[in-house]
Amino acid sequence: DTISVSELANRMAERTADVVKELMKLGIMATATQTIDGETAELVVSEFGHKVQRVSESDIEIGLTGDDDAEDNLQPRPPVVTVMGHVDHGKTSLLDAIRRTDVAAGESGGITQHIGAYQITTANKNVITFIDTPGHEAFTEMRSRGANITDIVVLVVAADDSVMAQTVEAINHAKAAGCPVIVAVNKCDKPEADPQRVRNDLLQQEIVTEDFGGDVLCVDVSAHTGLGLDKLEEAIMLQSELLELRANPDRNADGVVIESKVERGRGSVATLLVQRGTLRQGDIFVIGAESGRVRALLDDRGQKLKEAGPGQPVEILGLNGTPMAGDNCVVVETEARAREIAEYRTRRNKDHDAARGARGSVEQMLSAIAAGEAEELPVVIKTDVHGSLEAIRVALEKLGTEQVKVRMLSSGVGALSESDISLAAASNAIVIGFNVRAIPQARDLAKRDGVEIRYHSIIYELIDEVKAAMGGLLSPDT
Ligand code: GDP
Repeated sequence: DTISVSELANRMAERTADVVKELMKLGIMATATQTIDGETAELVVSEFGHKVQRVSESDIEIGLTGDDDAEDNLQPRPPVVTVMGHVDHGKTSLLDAIRRTDVAAGESGGITQHIGAYQITTANKNVITFIDTPGHEAFTEMRSRGANITDIVVLVVAADDSVMAQTVEAINHAKAAGCPVIVAVNKCDKPEADPQRVRNDLLQQEIVTEDFGGDVLCVDVSAHTGLGLDKLEEAIMLQSELLELRANPDRNADGVVIESKVERGRGSVATLLVQRGTLRQGDIFVIGAESGRVRALLDDRGQKLKEAGPGQPVEILGLNGTPMAGDNCVVVETEARAREIAEYRTRRNKDHDAARGARGSVEQMLSAIAAGEAEELPVVIKTDVHGSLEAIRVALEKLGTEQVKVRMLSSGVGALSESDISLAAASNAIVIGFNVRAIPQARDLAKRDGVEIRYHSIIYELIDEVKAAMGGLLSPDT
């Protein structure tokens, strides 16, 4: 009993590329035409949150009972927003100020708690979900674990300071994730504020705001006075309409862990962002490699909820262990099934850890390119001087073919930083230092995440290496 990858994707009504990606997460490299065994197929089906039907012992019928994600069943869901920007530009202040604009807060009472995300209802009755951990570290950590939960990035830039190093990092991280950016020019209450300069400076980062005829929404705000917060919320809704964010609320829930902790008297607690379906008290679930049953659902004011739908963050009680941020959660029918999946994931994680050698993720990217599943080779590059950066950039652009193009996720002058490494880890990118080294913290991070840094001092050798990588090959580091 085997099934081809494309047939499996077909029956689930998922994209083949997504199934290939899911298989990669399981440590299986397969192309669209390859076949996989029944047991693996069943697990992939569960990972996508579909139901499995075995018609007979030998024939697996992957049935979409109820056509879970059919077009007709999809309904609009709230956007999920992450706030990023340079330190001290007001990310935390802005998140706090936005939270105070929640018109539903008065009704529910309760004291706000940090559970990792919160949801507000705007004056126009729109609902928006904010991830309550600002910055690109958490964002990228989640992404490197395969969880792309953010729909929109709000880039905070202080009007008195304008674009700084971490502003640029945040832009690179958002771009690498394919996340649209909305700019919030903060601290506009300050006399020395110069919001126009911010718009100007952003041009250099290829962020073209509306004033310049671009399509990036940009709003002047002040976290202190509340200026422009309504406009920012409107911009988020506008962007979210363009994205046509939809999910089926009437199916078994799945979601991603945003935060987790152990609390005295409450045991293991996790905040889950529900992505599809509706999570209810009593549901049996698997999170990461742990199974459990939802004992209670709580919102960010500590209020008990009966259920939580797509886009909603909830704290859940009833876990048997403490999951990690980025872990996936699926609701299943029976405890036996939950145990089965949990056991499988435990086994998989062991294999995965073992396989997570120095070259794991880039190798995956390369085999995807060789299999025609990936069209871009992501690259992070740092050089000693601008001149060589430009020369390398031009040469790499020329390497692009119909099938594969080089995509510079981040490039610049100076040592390789932690941000470069985390960006590369999240995107399976090749990291290149041209006449520069990595700072020690970046080296440690690279070791931890199995990111290999490739050093060069001769441009044509660097180009040759990237060329080889585009062919799906990369010789061992020399
Ligand atoms: P973060 O590091 O980006 O999270 O920045 P914070 O939210 O901690 O803010 C950094 C500093 O800027 C704090 O002293 C805030 O009080 C101040 N700040 C934040 N937003 C505003 C604002 O809109 N106007 C003014 N004048 N100060 C602000």
